[in-house]
Amino acid sequence: MDNCIFCRIINKEIPAEIVFEDSESVAFMDINPVNYGHLLLIPKKHFPYIADVPDDLLGRMFVKTKMLMGKLKDATNADYVINSVVGLDVPHFHIHIIPRYHNDGLARFWPVRKYSDDEMKKVAEKIRKFI
Ligand code: 5GP
Ligand code: ZN
Repeated sequence: MDNCIFCRIINKEIPAEIVFEDSESVAFMDINPVNYGHLLLIPKKHFPYIADVPDDLLGRMFVKTKMLMGKLKDATNADYVINSVVGLDVPHFHIHIIPRYHNDGLARFWPVRKYSDDEMKKVAEKIRKFI
């Protein structure tokens, strides 16, 4: 896609610090890292969101994520590595792979709330009807 920043990275129209590339995917450094070494793994084909990615490709993307998590942990001496799919900013499917340290001072990923009474059961029942 012409106006997609990640497609432009794949097409080498704009620079990126690529650390891994194969026939169907690329991993490169996030320009605004949560911690140094924060990577983004993307398919070379443009799919806006996770729901758009074919199942077989999606499976392979997460197997590559697992591989990159191990390599990144070794390369950065991270205590652990997390991954997430956010997609609030760039509508070209990507997986964040982020080194974490016990003392990195990052806040919780998101604030949490509590269920009251039997609300959890009710919400679960509703979800089960859709699955
Ligand atoms: P999300 O869409 O998952 O909310 O976030 C998109 C991520 O892409 C952000 O972490 C942002 O820093 C990163 N990003 C946005 N534009 C560029 C870019 O041009 N180059 C690189 N390397 N990363 C980018
Ligand atoms: Zn794209």
